[in-house]
Amino acid sequence: MLLAAAASAALAPEESRLASAVSADLLRAHVSFLASDALEGRDTPSRGLDTAAEYLASQFRRLGLKPGAGQSFFQIARMESVRQPMEGFALELKWSGGSYSADPSRAAVTGGEALELQDAPLVRVVWRSPEDPLPPRESVAGKVVLLSAPVRNAAYLEKRRQLLALDPVALIAAGPAFRAAAMLEERQPAGRRRIPVVMISDSEFPKVLESLDAAATVNLRIPPPERQPVELKNVVAVLEGSDPELKEELILLTAHYDHVGVRAGGEGDRILNGANDNASGTATVLALAEAFARHSARPRRTLVFMLYFGEEKGLIGSRYYARNPLFPLQRTVANLNFEQMGRTDDNAGSRAGKLTASGFDYTTLGDLLMLAGRDTGVEAFKDGSNSDSFFSRSDNRALADLGIPAITVTVAWTFPDYHRPGDEWERLDYANMERAVRTCAIAVLRAANADRAPAWIDGNPRTARYAEAWRRLHGAH
Ligand SMILES: [Zn+2]
Repeated sequence: MLLAAAASAALAPEESRLASAVSADLLRAHVSFLASDALEGRDTPSRGLDTAAEYLASQFRRLGLKPGAGQSFFQIARMESVRQPMEGFALELKWSGGSYSADPSRAAVTGGEALELQDAPLVRVVWRSPEDPLPPRESVAGKVVLLSAPVRNAAYLEKRRQLLALDPVALIAAGPAFRAAAMLEERQPAGRRRIPVVMISDSEFPKVLESLDAAATVNLRIPPPERQPVELKNVVAVLEGSDPELKEELILLTAHYDHVGVRAGGEGDRILNGANDNASGTATVLALAEAFARHSARPRRTLVFMLYFGEEKGLIGSRYYARNPLFPLQRTVANLNFEQMGRTDDNAGSRAGKLTASGFDYTTLGDLLMLAGRDTGVEAFKDGSNSDSFFSRSDNRALADLGIPAITVTVAWTFPDYHRPGDEWERLDYANMERAVRTCAIAVLRAANADRAPAWIDGNPRTARYAEAWRRLHGAH
């Protein structure tokens, strides 16, 4: 008792009251439902995911929060689930010195539609660095482009998007032929042609690219993909700020509520429940919503609570929001995203009593967490290399790319049941999670009430591109 009193001595009474609304029982209630077998691992898209979305909206309704998407708590993304059959796929290259025929099991096709080409001429594009220039439109429009570039790198991926905008018939590249059962794509306006991207993972292929000459041609056959329209939901609620001016500024509190569904084969339990990843982050946002909604003094800035679909399929929900924001991006001053808040059994050792974040020293939010932790007895710290390397790997990235100071708060980056059926709700440490989420509540309250909005920290070379994006967003060059 004495210890607890000493630990919270530095908290203002209103901070203690706010934090006390977050309880282990509340967190356990949310996680145990979201990660129950009934929701079948919340794959995107799935009935389990839709059921989770209804649960989230009903919680926001219970708390009397304002819907974030007009009259609705759902921001609806109209997308397509696309399956590309590879039976009948063929790719043959011919040049003066030889020929090459791709093994369909080492090929993957995304983004396209059925295509049949005979002896089509090829245009080679070689990038040794992402700064290399794009080819002129007239040299690639209507042609099949063979791309030599390490496309796994984000800068090259962006460059590849620019190349696709020049209207080639198809793009072929060497690289990992990752093949998902189905891919999610945004629906295209009618009449807009899709451009297939063919990835060949055959280790011979880069050598083939070297030996091609200017007269090289291609035979390409892509079977028609199967397309299913799907509607996906980001779930969004608002708590308006109390300050007549600062309430125009928003802090986004986010987490992804999807996971990876059910394993196709194998013995025993096949449901990947995703309790820690990321029913725990989702429960954190719900608990913060509850604490702030019940709190007598509303914070000065507006808080937006948002749960994303599709993180596990590649940040799809958060990227969708970034392209279709419901609130002005220029007035969105910070994003705290939450992941893996419940497990303390990090592969590197116990994380009980600790809290960390990606980009811990990229923004002023890291210091806010550290100071709040000092007052609650939780050690918030920069986690060696993980805080840097995980910055790009969760939904905070979508908003950081636009210049908004955005981090992902977590208790443990790694844990033994990660993406396995053993990530069950019973294995979370809810007493520890209560302390961690209370600490976050206090940090959020201070961020929402401070005169100055959170900001990128200048001088860290890793933040330079995000700070530059911030200046672009605010028209200050
Ligand atoms: Zn996750």
